[in-house]
Amino acid sequence: MIKLIYEGELIRKDGFIIKAASSVTYIKTEEHNIIVDTSSNHIEKLIIKNLESINVKPEDIDTVINTHLHYDHIGNNDLFENATWYCSTKEPTFEASEFKDYRFFKDKEIEIIETPGHTYGSISVIYKDYVIVGDAAPLKENILKKIPPRLHVDRELAIKSLEKIISLKKNIITGHDGILYLKEIF
Ligand SMILES: [Zn+2]
Repeated sequence: MIKLIYEGELIRKDGFIIKAASSVTYIKTEEHNIIVDTSSNHIEKLIIKNLESINVKPEDIDTVINTHLHYDHIGNNDLFENATWYCSTKEPTFEASEFKDYRFFKDKEIEIIETPGHTYGSISVIYKDYVIVGDAAPLKENILKKIPPRLHVDRELAIKSLEKIISLKKNIITGHDGILYLKEIF
């Protein structure tokens, strides 16, 4: 079961980001209760409320996977006190004490792939017909127009990652812009 808990927001003024909060996705597999990205701290109450509406409490979550370690994707990790947090070791702020290498996360229903470019350690999470891509595609238009995220460490890698994501032929949960359904892409 997969459920978008929050679709994200990205508000720019004169080209500058003035408010950012990532999407938050809940996945229930046979083995795990997973949250992918925890968004920004200012939407903490909304996350709790939206989880409550599907009868999930923060303490039920055993796994948090962060697509990368920007503040607007990890802002509520603390809320999930029973969870192990996973990300890529290629993130510059990776701290072994807090985060575990995503390659140690094992679940037969989940596949994690590397989709670098926005950051070196950006990862995407595949579950059934969905792929959660974080800021490999912050907005739907990044996919639809194949334009790399405005913030990137490597433009070529970012474009390659977009192509990789599109080639999966799945519904795409973007970093800040809700779900882009497969039928809208092709
Ligand atoms: Zn980011």
